[in-house]
Amino acid sequence: MYTLEDWIRHGDELRRPLLVSQELHESDSLTIVGGGLSGLSIAFRIGSARPDLPIKLLEKSNRLGGVIKTWRQGEWVCDISVNAVRPHPSFWRLVDDLGMEDSFSPSRESASSRWVILQGGKHRLSSSTIFKIGLFGFLRGLINSRKGSPSVYDILRNKEIADAMTLGIVNDKAERVDANFLFPRLTGFGVNPPIGNRKMKKMITDSYPIFIPKKGSLASMDGGMEDIIHGLNDALSEMNNVDIIKEVNEKTPDEVSSAYGVPLSSIIWASGLPNREAGESSLSVFAVGYPKEEVNEVELGYGTLIPDPNIPISGILHESDIHSSDRAPDGHRLFRLMVPHTRWDGDDQTVKDALSNLIGFEAAPVIFQKIGERAIPRYPPGYLSSLLDHQERFSYAGWTASGVSVTHVVDEAERISELFMQ
Ligand SMILES: Cc1cc2nc3c(=O)[nH]c(=O)nc-3n(C[C@H](O)[C@H](O)[C@H](O)COP(=O)(O)OP(=O)(O)OC[C@H]3O[C@@H](n4cnc5c(N)ncnc54)[C@H](O)[C@@H]3O)c2cc1C
Repeated sequence: MYTLEDWIRHGDELRRPLLVSQELHESDSLTIVGGGLSGLSIAFRIGSARPDLPIKLLEKSNRLGGVIKTWRQGEWVCDISVNAVRPHPSFWRLVDDLGMEDSFSPSRESASSRWVILQGGKHRLSSSTIFKIGLFGFLRGLINSRKGSPSVYDILRNKEIADAMTLGIVNDKAERVDANFLFPRLTGFGVNPPIGNRKMKKMITDSYPIFIPKKGSLASMDGGMEDIIHGLNDALSEMNNVDIIKEVNEKTPDEVSSAYGVPLSSIIWASGLPNREAGESSLSVFAVGYPKEEVNEVELGYGTLIPDPNIPISGILHESDIHSSDRAPDGHRLFRLMVPHTRWDGDDQTVKDALSNLIGFEAAPVIFQKIGERAIPRYPPGYLSSLLDHQERFSYAGWTASGVSVTHVVDEAERISELFMQ
């Protein structure tokens, strides 16, 4: 049912269900609920494709962006949630269509190394990491990957490696995370492309505007990820058919329907389902900066994942190494720490001590600051399959529906908007 052109545009996102009501594209006005990246991208995509269609974007708080926010203090710049984007042409198209190509850059090649702390030692992630899983575990994982609704641990049969991976993506343990939701291609979820993988990949690669991302690379907004939110806001402000309303109080699609006198079928709920059963996990984010000479022993790289539940820090990201743009004053380096609340006693000193132990020496940071708290939705095994049962009269989008990363959210916005162009 999808054409080759659809596959080139969206790739494996087509394996995921689009949770839209049958009548959505026939609506004579739209109400999008949620002013995070999802709601903003949907409003931008549909609003551009259909300037005749009045769109209301409703946001509960007094700011747009949802979990996306960039913290700044002097020359220190650190994202509180997403900091970089993995390659997918939909995000490149969004940047291009917003005219922001000059402030979007590939991550630094010199900072591509990633490490994981395994049994107290630091292990560089590479293709040889697979040997840590062992032949039996690997085969078992392969068999499990095709079984119904496996967890990530069912597939990656090494608890530390599997936990490191899921902690890095969703702040949760591998046995509690749906492998279909994270890696639908690996598990064979959904439909398959009409041509082989290699050919498909080449055609997708050739479709990138701006620049073709190198294998294993990421890309980021030069001024921090919040810039994409500003770009979307600026573009929407110039559209006559889009009206943004902040500080709304409606909590359910039914409440929105009656408050605004619109049918449920014209509502796109992009703010996490009310009473979503799966719940969420919370973490705090710290920015830590050092003079370069104090941390020379810390190798240049992307960062380190720490699966050990007895250590309060689950990830150290080398913010000033990764991005092409500066994130720290001259002569300094900036690190971002992810601190899951299930592991932390709430005392900053505990985090400082753990960091000293992890880097192996006691350097004095010139900046050590908690910059925010975030909650990440949980996606238990069976989650993606359960979305197939969505039979509501409203449409449902955003990272609890599309996939956890910004690329899923942005691509989903394009897929929804394409329904209005058919
Ligand atoms: C710590 C952290 C790290 C991350 N790292 C990465 C990464 O490295 N790479 C990556 O690709 N992704 C990452 N992500 C995920 C990425 O940030 C999300 O995929 C994306 O921002 C989700 O956008 P959203 O609009 O779906 O949801 P949200 O940002 O949650 O937005 C939902 C919006 O809806 C509003 N809302 C809620 N209820 C209502 C209501 N009743 N009425 C009106 N408005 C309402 C909220 O106020 C909010 O503004 C990370 C996320 C976190 C938290």
